[in-house]
Amino acid sequence: MTALLLDGKALAAEYSTEVADRVRVCIEAGVTPCLAVVLVGDDPASKVYVGSKGKRAAQVGIATRDFRPSAAEATTASLLALVAELNADPSVHGILIQLPLPPHVDAAAVLAAVDPDKDVDGFHPYNLGLLVAGEPRFVACTPQGCMLLLERAGIALAGAHAVVVGRSTIVGKPMAHLLLGAHATVTMAHSRTRDLAAEVARADVVVAAVGRSELIRGEWIKPGAVVIDVGINRGADGKLRGDVEFEAARARARAITPVPGGVGPMTIVCLMRNVVLAAERRLGAAPSA
Ligand code: NDP
Repeated sequence: MTALLLDGKALAAEYSTEVADRVRVCIEAGVTPCLAVVLVGDDPASKVYVGSKGKRAAQVGIATRDFRPSAAEATTASLLALVAELNADPSVHGILIQLPLPPHVDAAAVLAAVDPDKDVDGFHPYNLGLLVAGEPRFVACTPQGCMLLLERAGIALAGAHAVVVGRSTIVGKPMAHLLLGAHATVTMAHSRTRDLAAEVARADVVVAAVGRSELIRGEWIKPGAVVIDVGINRGADGKLRGDVEFEAARARARAITPVPGGVGPMTIVCLMRNVVLAAERRLGAAPSA
């Protein structure tokens, strides 16, 4: 068996067109969706991500405003002040705090200060709570993108056994709740899981979000399973690899995402979806609308 490749690049391009249409409607109604991007320091990977987000925003007609304090000048207090300013600015619809923040900054406090109505990353405890309550509003972009890939591939999730490897607040946990919302039976695995190979081998759907190159061996994949590889790991050879041993997994799976070109582009387009959603919600809430 050679698996169907779940092409995130192509699907993201389709969703970009849909977002661009929605942006046009907002602009015609007098509101240009605007994303404020806060990048602290000069972490090379963060710069690449922020660059890709800016490019996609420009492509779909979303305005961006960049804030780039150096790691030395940024403090928890200065970032809280910046977030307060952006929260109060009606021309800003979404606020993106690029992670990771430097270790001397209280990242949780900064993320929690973002107005939940502008929390287009879906990291605010309130939006995470809505997801857990089964009433998602701003859903974290990477898990949202994974769900769109599964949906487009026509993967039936109701009753399926899904194993999510990784339990971070930005990927693993929201992913598990989205799968649960789609009626999958969900197992969450993490660094303390006793027998990861056995857990993965039981999965109809595997979502790997760990950050360890090829941790998930191809031979663990149940024949016919669907594999979503969130991991992005740069090897010593400079090549990007996922958390899954791609070729061996591809030989057993029914469908699999490549790295790069799978989940990554979907994450970015889902951010754009959240920004336009924030602007639409503002329009809906405006007294004149
Ligand atoms: P975190 O480091 O926050 O979380 C990693 C998770 O993996 C933790 O829950 C950890 O467990 C678990 N883990 C670590 N080692 C093992 C192991 N040996 N076996 C099982 N589980 C393990 O990472 P993120 O969730 O932020 O990101 C995960 C990966 O996804 C990274 O490669 C990141 O670059 C990538 N990523 C990709 C995106 C995209 O758009 N494609 C977007 C966001 C992230 P424990 O909790 O016990 O420590």
